[in-house]
Amino acid sequence: MDIKLDPSRDDLPLMANTSHILVKHYVLDLDVDFESQIIEGTIVLFFESGDRFEKQSGSTKDTCRSESNEACSFRMPAPCHSPVTDTRTFSSKTGYNDFAICGKGEKDTSGKDGNHDNQEQASGISSSKYRCDTGNHGSEDFLLVLDCCDLSVLKVEEVDVAAVPGIDKFTRSPKLTVVSEELRNQIVHELVTLPAGRWREQLDYYAGCSQAPGCGELLFDTDTWSLQIRKTGAQTATDFPHAIRIWYSTKPQGRSVTWTSDQSGRPCVYTMGSPINNRALFPCQEPPVAMSTWQATVRTAASFVVLMSGENAAKPTQLREGITIPVLYFCSVSKHICRCASWHYYVTMPMPASTFTIAVGSWTEMKPEPCLFKDLAAERALSPSEADFRYVGICGHTEYPCRFQNPSATTQEIIPHRVFAPVCLQGACQETLLQLVPPCLSAAHSILGTHPFARLDILIVPANFPSLGMASPHIIFLSQSVLTGASHLCGTRLCHEIAHAWFGLAIGARDWTEEWLSEGFATHLEDVFWAEAQQLAPHEAQEQQELKACLRWCRLQDEVRNSPEEMQVLRPNKEKTGHVSDSGSSVIKHGLNPEKVFMQVHYLKGYFLLRFLAQRLGDDTYFAFLRKFVYTFHGQLILSQDFLQMLLENIPEEKRLKLSVENIFRDWLESSGIPQPLQRERQAGAECGLARQVSAEVEKWIRVNRRPRKRKRREAEEVFEKLLPDQLVLLLEHLLEQKTLNPRTLQSLERTYHLPQQDAEVRHRWCELIVKHKYTKAYKDVERFLQEDQAMGVYLYGELMLSEDSRQQQVAHRCFELTKEQMERSSAEVVAEMLF
Ligand SMILES: [Zn+2]
Repeated sequence: MDIKLDPSRDDLPLMANTSHILVKHYVLDLDVDFESQIIEGTIVLFFESGDRFEKQSGSTKDTCRSESNEACSFRMPAPCHSPVTDTRTFSSKTGYNDFAICGKGEKDTSGKDGNHDNQEQASGISSSKYRCDTGNHGSEDFLLVLDCCDLSVLKVEEVDVAAVPGIDKFTRSPKLTVVSEELRNQIVHELVTLPAGRWREQLDYYAGCSQAPGCGELLFDTDTWSLQIRKTGAQTATDFPHAIRIWYSTKPQGRSVTWTSDQSGRPCVYTMGSPINNRALFPCQEPPVAMSTWQATVRTAASFVVLMSGENAAKPTQLREGITIPVLYFCSVSKHICRCASWHYYVTMPMPASTFTIAVGSWTEMKPEPCLFKDLAAERALSPSEADFRYVGICGHTEYPCRFQNPSATTQEIIPHRVFAPVCLQGACQETLLQLVPPCLSAAHSILGTHPFARLDILIVPANFPSLGMASPHIIFLSQSVLTGASHLCGTRLCHEIAHAWFGLAIGARDWTEEWLSEGFATHLEDVFWAEAQQLAPHEAQEQQELKACLRWCRLQDEVRNSPEEMQVLRPNKEKTGHVSDSGSSVIKHGLNPEKVFMQVHYLKGYFLLRFLAQRLGDDTYFAFLRKFVYTFHGQLILSQDFLQMLLENIPEEKRLKLSVENIFRDWLESSGIPQPLQRERQAGAECGLARQVSAEVEKWIRVNRRPRKRKRREAEEVFEKLLPDQLVLLLEHLLEQKTLNPRTLQSLERTYHLPQQDAEVRHRWCELIVKHKYTKAYKDVERFLQEDQAMGVYLYGELMLSEDSRQQQVAHRCFELTKEQMERSSAEVVAEMLF
């Protein structure tokens, strides 16, 4: 694929000034309306300001891991063994004013027209726009900058938390006679710093505060990427209101959520895992350092199900017309005004706002057929309240009700889970997915220990979902593509997403350019979990993993040949990884490049690095180390060096040889192309019995293909071995290297392996063969693939167009016409570019 790089368009800005002020909790109160494709309501944000951290961070200095000093020194929150992870040293000299907008003066921007839209035109992504000389402008007010785009902001106001009944217990003065800004901020401070054991009370007060009256509108302005809020006279983050309410609505075309219809044709909306994350869903602080908790109430027509990143398995509350809700819904499905239901979710573990996920649709909870499946009554939900929760100070993260501290949670092999899908996929879910969830969860527990999250929802997302799966706290999205064929693809993908609960969610990358920290780990662990879930004997597991390595090696070579060098580097910022500006803003390289979504270099190189390290240590040592690593770093953000330093400390001297953090950076993380050590290993020729077996079958097929049409009857028929799904993929990849395969051979291949009934990975290669050899009889398989397997079909469009065969190009155009309205935006852009 020809990739054009445009840094001004491709880099993703993170504008929030998280160094000055940090969101600790969000309360969302939203209505989802399918008729207008708008989500609207309020969000209340609770803050801690920088100087408050300064008071607390004194105790963290000596507890900082010495090897993380690098991170501490440039004022990033380093993973420290103390209740407060944020080790930034704020000083009054920081100069809060450097973020005021130049030239705006005292202009009232509170919006008399009542509507501030993020502009469509890019108005300068660089944060330098805001960094102006403090001496040269009229306004000395502190400016709160939130990441925000594609939103209509209607009003921003300060919340009078002092008006909440009973809240005076959070203040030192017994009676709230004189309410000042300082007092309100003191209340918020006490609330956000309540000990973990009081999480329930804390959530209740957050809810109470979110409904408290306003006490003054705040000035605000929006541009392409941010929402800026100030209060006249509030010159520092400390003076700025610590609880604010924003009225806003999303836009139908906003890039954080996708409005579409499910496989049964009913409307639905869900977060797509877009590169701009959630900033078109709610104004927030996007930088991962802004770890926060949230709670959300979502109302929509009663026929819909609301799924969300929440640790409670919410059930709907029916709302009576006219009492609780001001608006009645005209239901686009039933064509009359219908009842409304409300769903409430919350989390108590602080996480980056980008991990928040929501999905609303007419989905059905899938239950296993009773005769097929043993009742898992044992897997009862453990809520933090009944959990025997004792914070004994061993965890390295900020205080929250952590499952690692809870004896009954640590031994829970299978967490409670629900599966949702459109009703038309019930059969497919029962045949494959439902039976795989318990063994895969259990396998993950046996390898890594404690599940970081208390429960899990799995949703089969609409056909336009651009990847095979996505993991968020408490919810996994799976593509319908994993439901076809036998259980192999479904199981491996499920294992991959389950692994993200540890790597990507419980342990996040502090710098999003270091994507390998979540994808490399999940790819490496998916094989290990899946082998365990299938209860394979050790030699079988090793064989299958070796086969996977062969496949990924081919893929990596291919990607390295066909992608720009600079996008093949896992740690492109080198020693500047994790650096942010004084205000906390930064830019994610290539973060908006639409092609990046389709690249797997970060998955593959990360995977091969971890495989290389595991082989060097031996599996037992490596996984014992990994459990220790998870125990140390869960609930925190990491950089590559946090992992590598701890790993090398745990490798016995005799096994370390020439391994060092610097060498690994140089060979694996900071260079483009194939890492040298991997090149050497593959050249040495890895032994793989399963791959050898495939080679033998390939020989047979080549013989079959060479035979003349009228062969002698005496000649023996070839007998083909039964192959595993991954072997089939490899076989078809080998056959793709053949210059010519005649239609007879292709037909025989199709029949021998029942190719149209295989999983999507196998069918993808089959479609490539069909296209390459212009096997017209099977074009229907290609058309079906392009419509039903949109997450993988993008590559195939390229191949259809490249052939310069008019019939194939017709297939491409026809399928694109049928799906383009529904297709995910960046996929559609890429395909449109190929087609026109
Ligand atoms: Zn913990």
